[in-house]
Amino acid sequence: MKDLILVMGGGIIGLSCALELSRRGVNVRLLETGRCGGQASGAAAGMLAPYSENVEAPDEFFMLCRESLSLYPAWQQLVRECSGNSFEYTPSGSLYVAYHEADLLGLQSRMNWQRTCGSSAVILQGDDLFEAEPGLSRKALAALWTPEESHIYAPDFVTALKSACLSSGVDIQEELGALDLAAWEDHIEVQAASGEIFTGDQLVVCTGAWAGELSGKLGMRIPVQPIRGQICAYTWDAEQTPLNHMVFSSQGYLVQKANGTLVCGASEDIAGFDTSVTDRGIRRLLQWNKNVVPALEQAEPFHRWAGLRPSTLDGRPLIGRVPQAERVVFAAGHYRNGILLSPVTAKLAANCVEGRPLQAWQHAFRPDRFGVAAKVLRS
Ligand SMILES: Cc1cc2nc3c(=O)[nH]c(=O)nc-3n(C[C@H](O)[C@H](O)[C@H](O)COP(=O)(O)OP(=O)(O)OC[C@H]3O[C@@H](n4cnc5c(N)ncnc54)[C@H](O)[C@@H]3O)c2cc1C
Repeated sequence: MKDLILVMGGGIIGLSCALELSRRGVNVRLLETGRCGGQASGAAAGMLAPYSENVEAPDEFFMLCRESLSLYPAWQQLVRECSGNSFEYTPSGSLYVAYHEADLLGLQSRMNWQRTCGSSAVILQGDDLFEAEPGLSRKALAALWTPEESHIYAPDFVTALKSACLSSGVDIQEELGALDLAAWEDHIEVQAASGEIFTGDQLVVCTGAWAGELSGKLGMRIPVQPIRGQICAYTWDAEQTPLNHMVFSSQGYLVQKANGTLVCGASEDIAGFDTSVTDRGIRRLLQWNKNVVPALEQAEPFHRWAGLRPSTLDGRPLIGRVPQAERVVFAAGHYRNGILLSPVTAKLAANCVEGRPLQAWQHAFRPDRFGVAAKVLRS
């Protein structure tokens, strides 16, 4: 009989791993405490922006992000075909805007390294800038245009991923309540709040901001903590004021969506697992938005929400097999870039399940890199 792989967590990472594994002919059962896409993945702005998200010189994390961006065209097409769903995927490119003379040197050095890494980024100034993005405030001095970046409508994409999993034979179990890893040595056992036990041969942990719950249990430290992102959306008349690119600055971002909204994010605050929206968090965004796009001066967002980014101590995800628990593979801790990183994570996690080694540079994401924790208590 074929092995059965359990996937814990039904956000974009869990669904992507489940789809990739089932496409490789593996039996997969996905276990979710709540609703698939009900946490960070459904809250995200959906930007696929490895260059704008990596402000310093390129490193292993940038390489991972860029590889994932390159997988996106085929990956989203696969999800489209398997699900039969439609969703927005827009190759808009991005503008990283500078407002002060002092920031121009930084923009220049970013352009230089981006160009050595496959981008055709250029700096736009004056008429060129306002021709490319007429809605921008005239306070903008310059912007780095990175044409390779794109965005997706995350809530619809996650819904499509779930449908794609179902049509590819993944068994999805939702609303299971608290789930506990009860055994991981000879076989995998996950116990639901109801007492029901799910058994399997291997486990892929995709529990996002909750991944730290396994800290200690598997004999390693898993320093994952939730960073709340508060975000909002305006109703937007793109005919009147088109925003052709994703617009970034050091203070936030604006993304025009095909459904007639303008999404603006996002705060970064520590509030435990609280996903409520605060006046203070949103007010700061609104203030910034008016400075970037004057058409927003009188506008009020119609929707405000928040999600929990799964952040690790070094900001990099945890991807790979756990040496102390060989039936367990981690795919968690994707912080600000889980939507972008979902295809490459699915590929690497599926390789690990199949027993294929990671490449040397990918060891930067080893889940056991933060050291050993208290000894394993139970298996
Ligand atoms: C406001 C905001 C904007 C963002 N914008 C972007 C963006 O533009 N681009 C980008 O790439 N990323 C973005 N992100 C980050 C991105 O959303 C996350 O990195 C990504 O969603 C993480 O996916 P995940 O599947 O690991 O986590 P989640 O989506 O949180 O899924 C984890 C799932 O695990 C479940 N779970 C928890 N414990 C258990 C358990 N014991 N057993 C089973 N299931 C369990 C949870 O219920 C949840 O459904 C944004 C995040 C926020 C909050």
